[in-house]
Amino acid sequence: MKNYNPKSLKAEEFISHEEILDTIRYAEENKHNIELIDSLLEKARPKKTADGIHCEGLTHREASVLLACDIPEKVQQMYDLAKEIKLAFYGNRIVMFAPLYLSNYCVNGCVYCPYHLKNKHIARKKLTQEEVKAEVIALQDMGHMRLAIEAGEDPVHNPIEYILECIETIYSIQHKNGAIRRVNVNIAATTVENYRKLKDAGIGTYILFQETYNKESYLELHPTGPKHDYDYHTEAMDRAMEGGIDDVGLGVLFGLEGYQYEFAGLLMHAEHLEAVHGVGPHTISVPRIKRADDIDPDVFDNGIPDQIFEKIIACIRIAVPYTGMIISTRESEEVRARALELGISQISGASRTSVGGYTEEERPHDSEQFDVSDQRTLDEVVHWLMELGFIPSFCTACYREGRTGDRFMTLCKNGQILNCCHPNALMTLSEYLVDYAGEDTRKTGFELIEQELEKIPKDKVKSIARDNIEAIKSSNRRDFRF
Ligand code: SF4
Repeated sequence: MKNYNPKSLKAEEFISHEEILDTIRYAEENKHNIELIDSLLEKARPKKTADGIHCEGLTHREASVLLACDIPEKVQQMYDLAKEIKLAFYGNRIVMFAPLYLSNYCVNGCVYCPYHLKNKHIARKKLTQEEVKAEVIALQDMGHMRLAIEAGEDPVHNPIEYILECIETIYSIQHKNGAIRRVNVNIAATTVENYRKLKDAGIGTYILFQETYNKESYLELHPTGPKHDYDYHTEAMDRAMEGGIDDVGLGVLFGLEGYQYEFAGLLMHAEHLEAVHGVGPHTISVPRIKRADDIDPDVFDNGIPDQIFEKIIACIRIAVPYTGMIISTRESEEVRARALELGISQISGASRTSVGGYTEEERPHDSEQFDVSDQRTLDEVVHWLMELGFIPSFCTACYREGRTGDRFMTLCKNGQILNCCHPNALMTLSEYLVDYAGEDTRKTGFELIEQELEKIPKDKVKSIARDNIEAIKSSNRRDFRF
């Protein structure tokens, strides 16, 4: 296809507009081609190998055919397959995290975000290091161990030095039994040198949403500020990887452009990272545009209904089986419950999307980036997950043991992650239950852990995990992880 080259480092070649249009055309023509759809479902099915389980995934073209297919029976088969893939590689674990907003100063003009420069009525805030500390302690008191820090782009208010200082502060806080063990970072596209500084500061995943892969729409939606540069933004993950960051997180803001376009672009981006760096994205997030100060989602005419949203999640799960998938509190409890079945592996809980929101008694709205749909406490979310049969996991062992980037992916591709992740999830959940959970949650949790321990195939691993959980219960804990 003209202009399309997944190995190129130029945005216009690895996200080729012509290739996306052609993919959408091909998907439309084949959306009722049952023979092709069956062969794609078969290709994507997990297969047993000598090393464990292997999943081939699908290309952006193939996955786009599934996304276009509207035959109810086939759609149900996609959902069943997405669930099977998720169970094969992630089991029933769900990783928990919370966003931490550091600053909403921003020089960009993104028309869908309340932090845009021209919004003069939103309260502008930036946390001091003392305030960062207070926010982190509030998050630790809930039980969080993994954060995603967020800040607008502003070289004066939020330079890289400020972000680095905040990361250092966060990692330095020891409060009761809590510690933030993984800080993921969601800040604007930057230079290789700055990515290297973030790497040296010990960040987990670098997250940057593309917002939209359609260049024409992108330029209109980002009329002013450094973010207007589509190529610089789209090529950011290559610079991050050049700067030594192993784990990068992709995402688009669904609702800005046609979802078929974004879906193909997202998968092409993943294919590009795999082709150039040998490792695909660590995570893919699926935010949908929401109401906020100065933002009315109804003015964007590409909003997607829940039914299509679910199909997108299932098709991403099938196409990139080893990539973690994230859904935030932008979505309601009902939507999140369905999404968890279809492939989501990480969710946020008790999020506050304003700067300094965690230390306030009531959820503040004055500096909020978006309206939170799921407003439950972390304890309620943890309890709910367990009642749905999931294990909320607070584990950060892979990151701490250096199992990142291709080392993580190699283990994941062999299905080996389950051998250490499952017991680690049970041990970190035990810590949460002892230190932070309400009485009901604790009771439900330890009953679940008892059943889940029985599922560990290796007796030795089971016995070590059981010993550690007993030690946690008796407050004699050791910092042990598989
Ligand atoms: S999306 Fe990011 S860059 Fe754009 S206005 Fe909001 S905070 Fe600034």
